[in-house]
Amino acid sequence: MRCPFCRNSESRVVDSREVDEGQVIRRRRSCTTCGRRFTTVEEAVLAVVKRSGVTEPFSRDKVVNGVRRACQGRPVDDDAFQHLAHRVEESIRSTGVAEIPSHEVGLAILGPLRDLDEVAYLRFASVYRSFSSVEDFEKEIADLRGAARDD
Ligand SMILES: [Zn+2]
Repeated sequence: MRCPFCRNSESRVVDSREVDEGQVIRRRRSCTTCGRRFTTVEEAVLAVVKRSGVTEPFSRDKVVNGVRRACQGRPVDDDAFQHLAHRVEESIRSTGVAEIPSHEVGLAILGPLRDLDEVAYLRFASVYRSFSSVEDFEKEIADLRGAARDD
């Protein structure tokens, strides 16, 4: 990691702190050449394995983009999208896996999306759970009604 001020590649760690319940380590560094300080952040990479076998880093933006389509015309604002993406990432990271198939990211979206907007959830679920008939929708809607009654 090069010093952002003078591009020197050597630095000394002066402070190290865990954040996000230890999932992220933030280090305060001091450049050995110019003496200025900067902060680096280190976190385990969560990789998404696509159907083709190619992996890419998990991206909250991609979650938001995927969900945004299902939310078209629904009263869902940007904050809600960001919050949902955060919940999805947390739920995946909490399973402790380093790699996750892309379709499982889709499944991890279902719960938080259901809490957010039921219409968007049904649209999204119809793709990810491969709804093939009206009965699939009816069953899902019945489940949603059941969940609403429990509240
Ligand atoms: Zn420097």
